[in-house]
Amino acid sequence: MGVPWSTLFTLGVWCLWLRRNNFIFRNQHNIKNLMAETIAKAFEFAFLGLNERHCHSLTTIQVWCLPPPEHWFKLNSDGSSLGNPSKAGGALPTKANLCRRHVTESATCERCIREEETTLHSLWSCSKIVSAWTAPEWCACQNLNPSNFKELLSWILNNHGNPELFAMTTWGLWHQRNQARLLRPFSSSDLVVAQAKERLDEFIATIPLLPPALPRPRMKWKPPDVYGFKINFDGAIFKQENKSGIGVVIRDHSGAVIASLSQLTAPAFQPIEIEALAVARALEFGKEIGITEAVLEGDSELIINSLKAGGKSIASVESLLQDAFVLSNCYSKLLYSHCRREGNRLAHSLARYSINVSNYVVWMEEVPTSLIKVVQQDIANMANQFQ
Ligand SMILES: [Zn+2]
Repeated sequence: MGVPWSTLFTLGVWCLWLRRNNFIFRNQHNIKNLMAETIAKAFEFAFLGLNERHCHSLTTIQVWCLPPPEHWFKLNSDGSSLGNPSKAGGALPTKANLCRRHVTESATCERCIREEETTLHSLWSCSKIVSAWTAPEWCACQNLNPSNFKELLSWILNNHGNPELFAMTTWGLWHQRNQARLLRPFSSSDLVVAQAKERLDEFIATIPLLPPALPRPRMKWKPPDVYGFKINFDGAIFKQENKSGIGVVIRDHSGAVIASLSQLTAPAFQPIEIEALAVARALEFGKEIGITEAVLEGDSELIINSLKAGGKSIASVESLLQDAFVLSNCYSKLLYSHCRREGNRLAHSLARYSINVSNYVVWMEEVPTSLIKVVQQDIANMANQFQ
């Protein structure tokens, strides 16, 4: 049939893996002639894949946590899931997953011997790996309380600047857990982050350099519609002073400032916390000024998405957003907009400015003198936009 041996070998390995899964999870023990059956199956798959009557085109679909469409196969490159990790509770063969599949009797984590070993527990919340996640790289995640690993991952992807390091660290922790289970030497949890960094640097060093990227167009502040108002908000953290700042600015369609606010508060909150406080203050400020219809804009995607979802978000933010959610009901029309940091410069500058004020300061139709140039720059950018 002319099937390359490399193809046959790969498909043969996959057939063996399917056979192994059937053996473990479906109790199918009736293997009569494993070698003949494996080779025959591999030929069959190769034939289906290579014969043009069956293979009209190559289609790529994303099925990450979803079951594949009917008549499709899903090849998991890791773990023991038979196809749908979201239903199975994750693809990793954690104790909870193995117990659910009746492979083991106990779902208890072998490291802390206290809790059920889910994916989230084994890679994030187990008390024995706390030192991996208290490294400075993860300080923004200290107060997170995700209910499952998917929730944690989506927070990291949206908010943490280094999801690659997160991937390397979780891999390191899983490897450490397996080494410990097999009574082999393993690294302590506080070393895992350092090793993850080394591995990541090593990996990055092997990636060929790309041609220099074209300069990214600068994100500009966009004005609201005529007769509309836009409220931009931002938070800032002053670690040394153990304080946090809030900046809010309300502008009209011409970019003219209706009112601005700079507020200092204590202590130094986590980034997500101060963003949640800032959005509530922004809504309160807009209400005080008498705005009833507005576009509320910030550079925290998580906060904006949570408000769009009616205040629902991951647990650690949900409670903080309650005030904002209640205040949002005071508006007859409120739209939410997420912008990049460059589009939120004035609110950001006002938040940074707060270190100069005690409690808070409001400016009507103006901003602090040192920030006039930021207002002018936004207005100039608007003019360029319309040319
Ligand atoms: Zn544990």
